[in-house]
Amino acid sequence: MNFLKKLFNTKTTITTTLTVTSSNGFHLRPIAKFVNEAKKFDATITLKAKEEEVSATQVPKILSLSLEKGDSFELRCKGKEAQEASKELSKLFKELMSDDKEVKEIKQEEEQYEASSLRGETIAKGIGIAPLIELIYQVIDNDSNVPLSNAIDMSISGLEEMYEKHKEEDNADIYLAQMQLLQTDIFMNLKDEEPSKFQELIQIEIDKLKNTKFESRISDYRDIEQRVLSEMGIYKEFKTPDNPYILFTDDLLPSDIALLKDTPVQGVILEKGTTLSHASILLRSANIPSMIIQNENLKSNSLDVILDANSGNLILEPTKNDLKEARERQDKLKKEQEQSFQKRFETTKTKSGKEVKVLANITDLDSAKEAKELGADGVGLLRTEFLFTKNKPSVEEQTQTYQAIFELFNEVTVRTLDIGGDKSLPYIDIPKEENPFLGLRGIRFSLQEQTLFKEQLLAIFKAVGSISSNKKTIKIMFPMISNIEEFTEAKNIAQTVAKENNLNISNIQFGIMLEVPSIIFGLKEFNNLVDFYSIGSNDLTQYLFAIERTHPTLSVDPISPLLLLALEQIRKDVKKPISICGELAGLDVATQKLLSMNYTTLSVSAKLIPNLKERIRNV
Ligand code: PEP
Ligand code: MG
Repeated sequence: MNFLKKLFNTKTTITTTLTVTSSNGFHLRPIAKFVNEAKKFDATITLKAKEEEVSATQVPKILSLSLEKGDSFELRCKGKEAQEASKELSKLFKELMSDDKEVKEIKQEEEQYEASSLRGETIAKGIGIAPLIELIYQVIDNDSNVPLSNAIDMSISGLEEMYEKHKEEDNADIYLAQMQLLQTDIFMNLKDEEPSKFQELIQIEIDKLKNTKFESRISDYRDIEQRVLSEMGIYKEFKTPDNPYILFTDDLLPSDIALLKDTPVQGVILEKGTTLSHASILLRSANIPSMIIQNENLKSNSLDVILDANSGNLILEPTKNDLKEARERQDKLKKEQEQSFQKRFETTKTKSGKEVKVLANITDLDSAKEAKELGADGVGLLRTEFLFTKNKPSVEEQTQTYQAIFELFNEVTVRTLDIGGDKSLPYIDIPKEENPFLGLRGIRFSLQEQTLFKEQLLAIFKAVGSISSNKKTIKIMFPMISNIEEFTEAKNIAQTVAKENNLNISNIQFGIMLEVPSIIFGLKEFNNLVDFYSIGSNDLTQYLFAIERTHPTLSVDPISPLLLLALEQIRKDVKKPISICGELAGLDVATQKLLSMNYTTLSVSAKLIPNLKERIRNV
């Protein structure tokens, strides 16, 4: 029997079909995590797509499959641990897809300059004023006699160390990705060849990426090259000026950005690349004003230029007036940031004295603490699905988390599980749907699969029962409600759960997300049933305009007049408290419009709170 089992295990190929659901495709960072996991199993693992079958442990091979959103591939596992490998890798892949955040184009503001300007794409917002300096590397050769294979091993260890050290940060995946690029057969078979052999192999990989959608990964290969060569005593260095400067280059390595941060850099211009490249990600997290400007004629210049990444302009020969105004804007931005941060805990009133509540959108206890620190007046949206992403929390675990969050604020709105669409749980199989955003989402899932829903309600009720103060306002909000019956059924289930467990829920409010357009036409009836509404502008926009919110190329003007008309209509018809918790609530361009329609409760991500409060004070 054991023998048969062993034979079955080693000879059978387990095939699972997986589909890429992230709009970014299956790109380098998730691939690196996937490969890192695949290497842990005693099994032969391959990916088969588009008539090609490649090893699951070789990053460049998987990259070469060019898997885009909607593409499927077969995960094939054979050998001793084939079953475990297939299960774990499928689970990981789904997690990677649902965690993969889309980088949206950064909206630029209008700005006029007297002098002519070059236009660019914003990587990170901000205004820089300083001379323009080209990045030029110097090569220093201290020949260390370290054999190539040792230098490669040392580089891999170095990258692994960096990954472990920064594991909790978003950017850590870049180190893992570079480590996996280096740990491929191409380089691992090298022994004590000359450095030039390694450079030649790197160049071959780079040439393969040229003019493909992975072109921005070239700088990762350059980074690896520099890392390995420096272990052999060959350094590439650039000298940064001691005075403020704006750097331009066609090729900034991810590792260079750490060096830039400690210099008086005022801005960065990349002549090539994309806002998704690793250099771009790091520039954003270092908060360095930066843009992509495709122009090969930029020259170093000792006079001040203006890099206005807020409006997407580079002014090479600014007039005195341009400089004066840009400096004023720069000072204003800085002051606003300082002031708004200092006043973050104060109540927020418009100039005409209208009081506005600024609440936070949070996902867990950590983000609740961050929101508290940044001045949130309460929680307007707890997206509970994020508590369920890795594994299913028990009722007790949920209760503890809800209770800890309730203790922090006087008002918390807990949204019940909102999965489906672009959010999945690795341990729940929602049958594949052609149009998941129009399928089993939000409350529809909870009403169909009631176990998780009932457990969650019980956990919330228990948490409410155990908080120290009875003065708190705790609200339960159902997502994706599209008709009266869904709301009444959900509320009935809640009441039954409370009754069965002898829990008093009389002081809990029940409301709905207003994010499906049908509700707009049912408000009269809903006014008699719900205690509150919160507008989910992200989904409301998607469904009003029939444009998928994760669509890679289509998008809706976030303050489209038609959306504003819908909001106006809603404001007129609702007779119960209403807030807005979609992205719209935090947009600069929307604040004045929303306040003029009398939306006086806005819920936004924590980082936006101090600035939004300050903006409101100036309306
Ligand atoms: C929304 O749809 O606007 C919303 C706040 O919910 P989510 O983004 O979680 O779907
Ligand atoms: Mg929504």
